[in-house]
Amino acid sequence: MFSRPSADGLSPERRFELMISGVRDYAIYFLDRQGFVSSWNAGAERFKGYRADEIIGRHFSVFYTPEDQTLGLPARALRTALAEGKFEMEAWRVRKDGSRFWASVVLDPIFDETGEHVGFVKITRDISERKAAQEALLESERRFRLLVQGVTDYAIFMLSPEGIVTNWNPGAQRIKGYTEQEIVGRHFGCFYTEEDREKGMPAATLIRASTEGRSEHEGWRVRRDGTRFWAHVVVDAIRDADGHLLGFAKVTRDVTERREAAAALERANAQLFQAQKMEAIGQLTGGIAHDFNNLLAVISSSLDVLGTQPPPHVAARMQDAMRRAVTRGATLTQQLLSFARQQPLKPETCQLDEVIESFESMLRRAVPSSISLDIRASSGDSLVNVDVVRFEAALLNLVVNARDAIAGTGQIDIRTGSAELRDGDVPSLRAGRYLRVQVTDTGCGMSPEIIARATEPFFTTKEPGKGTGLGLSQVYGFISQSGGAVDIASEPGRGTTVSLYLPVVERPAAAAARLPATDVAETVLVVDDESEVLEATAELFRSIGYTVVTASTAAEAIFRLERDSEIDFLFTDVVMSGAMDGLELARRARDMRRGLRVVVASGHISPSRHGDGELDDFVFIAKPYRLAELARAMRRAAEASRRAQDA
Ligand code: ADP
Ligand code: MG
Repeated sequence: MFSRPSADGLSPERRFELMISGVRDYAIYFLDRQGFVSSWNAGAERFKGYRADEIIGRHFSVFYTPEDQTLGLPARALRTALAEGKFEMEAWRVRKDGSRFWASVVLDPIFDETGEHVGFVKITRDISERKAAQEALLESERRFRLLVQGVTDYAIFMLSPEGIVTNWNPGAQRIKGYTEQEIVGRHFGCFYTEEDREKGMPAATLIRASTEGRSEHEGWRVRRDGTRFWAHVVVDAIRDADGHLLGFAKVTRDVTERREAAAALERANAQLFQAQKMEAIGQLTGGIAHDFNNLLAVISSSLDVLGTQPPPHVAARMQDAMRRAVTRGATLTQQLLSFARQQPLKPETCQLDEVIESFESMLRRAVPSSISLDIRASSGDSLVNVDVVRFEAALLNLVVNARDAIAGTGQIDIRTGSAELRDGDVPSLRAGRYLRVQVTDTGCGMSPEIIARATEPFFTTKEPGKGTGLGLSQVYGFISQSGGAVDIASEPGRGTTVSLYLPVVERPAAAAARLPATDVAETVLVVDDESEVLEATAELFRSIGYTVVTASTAAEAIFRLERDSEIDFLFTDVVMSGAMDGLELARRARDMRRGLRVVVASGHISPSRHGDGELDDFVFIAKPYRLAELARAMRRAAEASRRAQDA
């Protein structure tokens, strides 16, 4: 059956034959029933390298690799094509020159009009390039997976658009603590803190990443075991070519250490700044105090000169007022010098627990009954080298501050103990063994700003007349001068703990013996010509357990001493109107009664001698005195009279 020739003069069969033989992108050829090549086209020649005359009549198995030939694949291909009407596969094929290419093969059986099987048509295509590209893609994906799986410093994982974890790397496991099995399929919200979850942070992060393409931030994250770490997080939205959201890539890094290092640096800088500021204020204060002392010295000696001339009564009172002013000035300079760490200290080696124990009654007197004071000293036999009187004053200062901080009822705890410090544990202290004294209160607490300024001289938050702002600065100056440090820990509304650190010293050859605590139920004769002062002083003595007898003139005092043999102490003011001043009274009294313990108080101290001392082996105390100084003076008087009796 022949078709009609067409315009180009070719029969359809011829045209078809030409077309097939001209196709270059496909190898199209016929095999006979046994598989021998019976036709060949340009594409076949191009892919396989054989010319038609070289290959026609040869068996098509030459295109197979030796391995595939051994496996009998060519015959199997023919069988399959015949049985199933088609055989299709991708596989390696061999060119004439022995090189290989990746081929896509289709094999169809051919039947004639009578339905008899006459052979096969084979269409082969060289798809090496496509395969290479595919393989390169697979390889790069494989490498990328290896890379991601090899990373342990970063948590790298993916989320579905809803935020479900879809894969996990070892870094994620290391940082977050979940294994892949535990976490894949769960919502990534479990990495957030409770608070952040409540604020809707997980959802907000995904929204930001999907609208802006990316979200980067730092924040607290939670590990599987509930511990927190400071995380640097980047979330990228992943979209396909059409812009559909496929999910999110999340990279998380644990930067807790970096953050802590930065915070430590900041703290160190703040401490350095604080130390430098205190040093500068200290130098300034010290300078002013010295100048001020010189001025006081001028006024004081002028007063002394005036005092030698018998003045009219009014002038005497004015002089007295001036002396009091000088005294106050002297006290002030002493406090300033204390802050400036320039006060003369009389350190002795002692056990602080004993010091505190003997001082306990004083401390108790400073707090009202609405506040309970609990003292637990447990520094054992550790010794420190410290000026005991100043230490007592410092402790009293802390207790008074604690008391002032408590409105109504509350609790003050005093604790001692030893502390083994490493470098940097307490700023300005080297590593070593320290004795720590802590005063803790349940009071109003301090803000960080107040803590930073609390030890500055004259810094006070108390109303005028209530606070001088010198308490903590004295404590700070004194403790620093003693080789220690002061640490304030406080939060508004949560109370305050002030810790004093003093270096522990080795036991010296002979540890200084502590003076005995105040003996109670002793009688003191208090002498002062000003009735108000007299009453106040008497009250002070009564409050620390003395029986008190009073006299408002020296003569009256002599009279009392003659009558009352119970009197153990004479406490007299130096400056008194009348024939006899306090010193004269003291001498006369001592003559009358050897072993009488005498303390002489004066509103006038020469600025060169601060604090208590001894005059003519009387114990001398500067007015105005503090309770602590008074107790100390009384102890010294007892000691002095014992010495006098021993001699
Ligand atoms: P003053 O007691 O005269 O005010 P200080 O130097 O003793 O001076 O204290 C300075 C300031 O530090 C106080 O005014 C107060 O604001 C604060 N402060 C000191 N100790 C405490 C404490 N235990 N609780 C709360 N605030 C305190
Ligand atoms: Mg104070």
